[in-house]
Amino acid sequence: MGLPAKVTRRRIRKAVLYRNFNSTGPQRLRVSIFVAVSVPRITLKPGKEMPLLRKHLWVFSGAIERIEGEPRNGDVVDVYDHQGSFLATGHYEDGSIAVRIISFRQVLPDAGFWNQRMSRALAYRETFGIMGDARTNAWRLVHAEGDGLPGLVVDIFSDLAVIETHSTGMTRSVGDIAEGLKAALPGRIQTIYHREVKAEKGAWLLGDARDVAIIENGRQFLVDAEGGQKTGFFLDQRDNRQFVSLAVKDKSVLDAFSYTGGFAVYALSAGARQADCIDSSARALELLKENMKLNGLTSFTPHVADVGLFLKSAGTYDIVIVDPPPLARNRVAVRAALKRYRSLNAEALRHVERGGMLFTFSCSQHVDRDSFEHVIRSAVLDAGREARVFHRFAQPADHPVNMLHPEVEYLKGVALPVD
Ligand code: SAH
Repeated sequence: MGLPAKVTRRRIRKAVLYRNFNSTGPQRLRVSIFVAVSVPRITLKPGKEMPLLRKHLWVFSGAIERIEGEPRNGDVVDVYDHQGSFLATGHYEDGSIAVRIISFRQVLPDAGFWNQRMSRALAYRETFGIMGDARTNAWRLVHAEGDGLPGLVVDIFSDLAVIETHSTGMTRSVGDIAEGLKAALPGRIQTIYHREVKAEKGAWLLGDARDVAIIENGRQFLVDAEGGQKTGFFLDQRDNRQFVSLAVKDKSVLDAFSYTGGFAVYALSAGARQADCIDSSARALELLKENMKLNGLTSFTPHVADVGLFLKSAGTYDIVIVDPPPLARNRVAVRAALKRYRSLNAEALRHVERGGMLFTFSCSQHVDRDSFEHVIRSAVLDAGREARVFHRFAQPADHPVNMLHPEVEYLKGVALPVD
């Protein structure tokens, strides 16, 4: 299938700009224009087009029959089926996921493309009233594959935007992405931080801002984009923190894996009697103390400790919250992670008062809900307790799950009244 002349021209112009950036002189530039006229082309083996026809967003390296045009990491490539029919445009990367699809139409991802994709992500959130009000001004604008943009996460913290890129293609597009999000939120973004996940580095793209104050369901939190974990604050637990806060009045609370105090701040401001907050990160607990102060809360004790070790000598609580980091980072790690979820939750259950509640979560993408609930059931038996599922937790609406690429569903949890 030939490219329309207009698209070809625009691709050449883009190539000139890009090559110009890297080249040392006009000689090099001329040669590069010649090379870049055709976008690298990936042809799939027979039958391997099915996932893309079903709008899945990854091409695995094993599905590729041939590559024309010698793409470098992060280059835009077009993907074709064995018969030569166009399937999708994406970012190329060495590795088992060879192409991350950004469009099922043949596109040039220029500034206009990113403007349009940011506006589309925003429009969906506007429809559901997610993008902030007087009680909540922190929300996710782009949730990777959930928004059809593999490798890209954008969180908005009041007037700070944090862009997290997980692929070279997204890293190389970050300038256009930043412009697109400023255009989508005119006048609302004052600072932008870019975190490049694989390189484990970050940089300010616009201004700089330490400890930005946000408000979430009426509670205040500081966000440390530069030194914090992930984008600086875990927005995915917003609805779940609110739910937990309904059950805590006059109760004692153990917030295990507290980070900067998301659950504990909600609990104490909703009338919990006292909270112990456990995290292995001293830095997170420093911010937790600041967050407590911001909300006028005092009945808490931070413990820099390993949760497993802390539980060995801990007493009992009316409410125990268990929100560990992902325990399975890949498929191979799933078996070990399930064992860890089981022992961790059995131990946590031993510290729940009779008639109390366990709120337990998993953010491991590779552990599905059924497997998680299965190990929690085992943990209840191990601990010799009785429990009912009172509520099931998931990720909020600004972390959408793409029905045709369900791998982005990662957060699950249960509320268990325990006898
Ligand atoms: N509940 C938090 C998010 C938790 S993220 C919120 O609502 O914001 C997971 C946290 O677990 C991180 O802060 C990390 O520092 C901490 N962590 C990881 N391993 C740990 C361990 N073994 N013991 C204690 N904390 C741990």
